[in-house]
Amino acid sequence: MTAPFLAEAEALRDELVAIRRDLHMHPELGFQEFRTSRIVAEQLSQLGYEVITGVGKTGVVGLLQGGQAGSERVVLVRVDMDALPIHEENDVPYRSQTPGLMHACGHDAHVAIGLGVARLMMKHRDQFPGTLKLMFQPAEEGVGGAVAMLKDGVLKGPDVDVALSIHVSSNHPVGMAVVRSGPIMAAADKLEIVVHGKGGHAAQPEQAIDAVLVASHIVVALQTIVARNVNPDDVGVVTVGSIAAGNAGNVIAETATMRGSIRSFTEEVRVLLHRRIEEIATGVAAALGARAEVTIERGTDATVNAEGPTRVMHAAAAAVVGEENVNTTYRTTGAEDFAMVLAQVPGNYFMIGARSDEKGFNFPHHNPRFDIDEACIPHGVAILCDAAVRSLKGEG
Ligand SMILES: [Zn+2]
Ligand SMILES: [Zn+2]
Repeated sequence: MTAPFLAEAEALRDELVAIRRDLHMHPELGFQEFRTSRIVAEQLSQLGYEVITGVGKTGVVGLLQGGQAGSERVVLVRVDMDALPIHEENDVPYRSQTPGLMHACGHDAHVAIGLGVARLMMKHRDQFPGTLKLMFQPAEEGVGGAVAMLKDGVLKGPDVDVALSIHVSSNHPVGMAVVRSGPIMAAADKLEIVVHGKGGHAAQPEQAIDAVLVASHIVVALQTIVARNVNPDDVGVVTVGSIAAGNAGNVIAETATMRGSIRSFTEEVRVLLHRRIEEIATGVAAALGARAEVTIERGTDATVNAEGPTRVMHAAAAAVVGEENVNTTYRTTGAEDFAMVLAQVPGNYFMIGARSDEKGFNFPHHNPRFDIDEACIPHGVAILCDAAVRSLKGEG
């Protein structure tokens, strides 16, 4: 099997690396991607795309009509653009020029990949029917960029039939891809528990209800949910990441506030986790004479890949990296807001290996030393182009 776009994507490599490095030097936080989206809009216009800016604040949409008759499909290819509030510790010529901000998740590479896709798809527009819709999304890192673009109608006019997206992965060596059907990233919900006890003197516990002690019992009891309530074949995470209570060693705290994160791949497990957290927190508190107020805020859904588009992406990925280098089982309890797009239209979100132990590109995402092996950029371009063309022709 030959990869139809790989040679051309490799030929663009230096240019795309230059784009990625320029963006890396000028990182912008979610909804502040003014420079990045200006560059994207300019390049898309120059290529001949119909460009819509201001979709979801700093989001950009590019539209391209295929030159062939046939399928009227609309295929969306989405990349995200935002950086993180992390101070870069890499000593590279392209290090972040903005103190405290860094592309530590690889979204700079995603923009470069998106622009590479834009070029090759324009060049080959006579080889596919339908409409290609490029979605350059702001604010993926927990601040609602996908939802903002959805609210502004990114899936409408023309209505999207299939949505495709990519993430570089420092968990996988360059030359690998992860393409799997079903959930690939988890749903992420926010947890807050406020324990109301009764403050008092540290020396007279019998006159008080110790919120610190109650909170401690709740933390321990919450860990029985995954161990004892979730089917061992399913995945769930309940993390209490913060407890705030008390100000002095000689005072029994009246209240304790706990914050945490809840992860799941299926709605069934999600509902189970929410229910048991509520039952355990209120039940343990009541048993100890206190009261617990539980607030669970549903966040991003699980990122769930549909079967048809996943088959298409698998074929495209296998053509580029080889069938033996396509991982079909990996998934992670991280969250991804492309989930909100996939909740509305079928599609596939895949990962492309970007790790190189040899070159020292093996720090985790969101680490101040995160970096990628840029050889992954042409891989991403070639796979997305091939998958988009196949989808536009009606495959999957
Ligand atoms: Zn990230
Ligand atoms: Zn990311």
